Amino acid sequence: MNREFVRLTAFEQAQLIRTKQISASELLKASLVQMEQVEPLTHAFVTICEKEAKEKARAVDKKIAAGEPVGPLAGVPYSAKDLFCTRGIQTTGGSGILSGWLPPYDAAAIERMNQADAVLIGKTNCDEFGMGGTNENSAFQPCPRNPYDSERVAGGSSGGSAAAVATYEGTVSLGTDTGGSIREPAAFCGVVGLKPTYGRVSRWGTLAFASSMDTVGPITRSVRDAALMMNVLAGFDPRDNVTGRVSVPDYISEMKKEIKGLRVGISPDFLKVAVLASDGSIEDHPIEPEITAAVMRTAEILRSAGAEVITDVPMLNTKYSVPAYFVISRIEAYSNLQRYDGLKYGRPSQNHPVDMYDLFAKSREDGFGHEVKLRILTGLFMSRKDFYEKYYLRAQRARALIRSDYDRIFDPMGDYRLDVLLTPSTPLPAFRFDRKGCDPVLIQYADMFTSPMNFAGLPGISLPAGKTSDGLPIGVQFVGYDYCESKILRAAYIAEQTGTVAEGDCPERCSELDMGQSPFGNSPCL
Ligand code: GLN
Repeated sequence: MNREFVRLTAFEQAQLIRTKQISASELLKASLVQMEQVEPLTHAFVTICEKEAKEKARAVDKKIAAGEPVGPLAGVPYSAKDLFCTRGIQTTGGSGILSGWLPPYDAAAIERMNQADAVLIGKTNCDEFGMGGTNENSAFQPCPRNPYDSERVAGGSSGGSAAAVATYEGTVSLGTDTGGSIREPAAFCGVVGLKPTYGRVSRWGTLAFASSMDTVGPITRSVRDAALMMNVLAGFDPRDNVTGRVSVPDYISEMKKEIKGLRVGISPDFLKVAVLASDGSIEDHPIEPEITAAVMRTAEILRSAGAEVITDVPMLNTKYSVPAYFVISRIEAYSNLQRYDGLKYGRPSQNHPVDMYDLFAKSREDGFGHEVKLRILTGLFMSRKDFYEKYYLRAQRARALIRSDYDRIFDPMGDYRLDVLLTPSTPLPAFRFDRKGCDPVLIQYADMFTSPMNFAGLPGISLPAGKTSDGLPIGVQFVGYDYCESKILRAAYIAEQTGTVAEGDCPERCSELDMGQSPFGNSPCL
């Protein structure tokens, strides 16, 4: 078995397996060898489920040998962020309070991946309950390293998933995104991450953080794999009552449609960050110039492919996204996390509780990490009756204003009539763990370009768009209207085809490894 097979896309791997050119068990073996070599450097996983993976791969091979039909991801090794419940496999949410927990059921997204015959190889590290953007808030340390520079963060909260996909530890991954947690780590690690429309993919069985914004989506190495995973994941689920009864197109054929005439917008409000000063005034702060340049380059690629690029699209309420996200996400987290009391959910404290209330308090004290406690307390404080108007109501008004910006630019009868909006995914590339040499303001506003889509419920895809002069990946984002994943995939596909990824693109980790000769001329990293 050639080790190079791990570098193929999910689409290619499934095709080779279906046509019996390789077996699912062989591919899994190659993935496990890759993990053995890379994982001590990457630290992407909390749990590796080798036994279950081998069983599933054998089952896929058996089906194929018997001539039975197999799913579209037949034999593709994948990982899932540790926020997805997996039956009989430890699910921690990156939290000490759930360490050792074996869920009695699979999350809806895991069920769908399983039905598609994908092979789950493990659970990836993440910030505790998704609260963070670096994985430094995970109870499981050392946390994932950036594949391009181990002194830097992989991003978060789906940092383990992005780092795993970038270093070929499994081909694709399942992530969650509440304020940018799929798109930010994807941008930092040089992979593709798609946050679908709110309600497009079921979240049933996924640990909740801020329910009005939580979404589930794919992290992949190619746009086509993101489309392929969306074919598997999207659709109505009566167990998640925000999912829509909206038909699911074939995203792969939609992605390949003509781009001529597609209206792509760029907004100056997405090329700076708006910093809220303590006196309530708002000041502009520049983003990394190399990131602006990547956005402009991508716009040019689309223009040459026949799209119409509209610059100067005003998105004036973007400046409220970070402060409003601070309020709303914490109030929802405070409410969602009440269930972890050591009785209903979570490990009970062994610290000699004297009664039930003491058990609740001690289990939460022992089980939750610092950031989670901080968010619970701020959420509690801001939702107090006397502060409700000052914080929560104002944040909800800001949220409505943010949504109104998108209604205006995507209105087919309006002034802009956009199909997609093109933005940076993040204002800066992956920063250092010690923060040295990295703009502290931009670090604080890392979610400014991703959280508005969680407020508005809209789909966004981050894809690699070249590198900084230091060799760090840059991500750009396409945003679409409700349920318009097809359009953002189409724009991303063209950008990818026309080569936004720099020549010789290759994570440090992989170039260090002796991978042997590839039979595939067009594989990345060769
Ligand atoms: N970084 C953001 C936060 O810390 C977003 C997290 C997410 O999308 N889950 O809340």
